[in-house]
Amino acid sequence: MAAYRVIPLDEELAWKVRGSLRAPDYRHPAYVDTADSVGPCRVCLRPFRVGADRRILFTYDPFRRHEPFPLPSPVQIHEAGCPRYTGHRLPAELSGLPLTFEGYGPGRELIAEERHAATAEAESAIARILGRPSVAYVHVRDTATGFFICELDRGGVASTTAAGGAGATGDALV
Ligand SMILES: [Zn+2]
Repeated sequence: MAAYRVIPLDEELAWKVRGSLRAPDYRHPAYVDTADSVGPCRVCLRPFRVGADRRILFTYDPFRRHEPFPLPSPVQIHEAGCPRYTGHRLPAELSGLPLTFEGYGPGRELIAEERHAATAEAESAIARILGRPSVAYVHVRDTATGFFICELDRGGVASTTAAGGAGATGDALV
């Protein structure tokens, strides 16, 4: 099974939004309410408890680390602080959610896209997409809403260029 890194929303950015109630980069007002859907929270990646958890909805550009031109998505986080997810697999709590996996190359070129719900299917989809040398990172989205959930990449594994060839990188991914 492929090794990969799960990249939730940056904690510092989340605390700025909690403090200002404004979207980063856009300054639109953020919206606070009680969860009426499971989310999940983009920091801890835990589903919201419907009718109980308070959440903040705001505009976020999930490409801000990669591209000069934004393409924003609404995202939701817990209103109160929560621990950033640090696992090395998609959280099991996300299994059952309809998820879309989008593999992007340089220039935001969409190289691969798959939709799955079950965890086992999701893991093999991630392996397939990250196994393509032209894919630099994967966005995980909620299939029902299209909202961005988190990013995946190869983590500490060197890029194709740095490793000196696709073969070397592919071997390192196993
Ligand atoms: Zn959270």
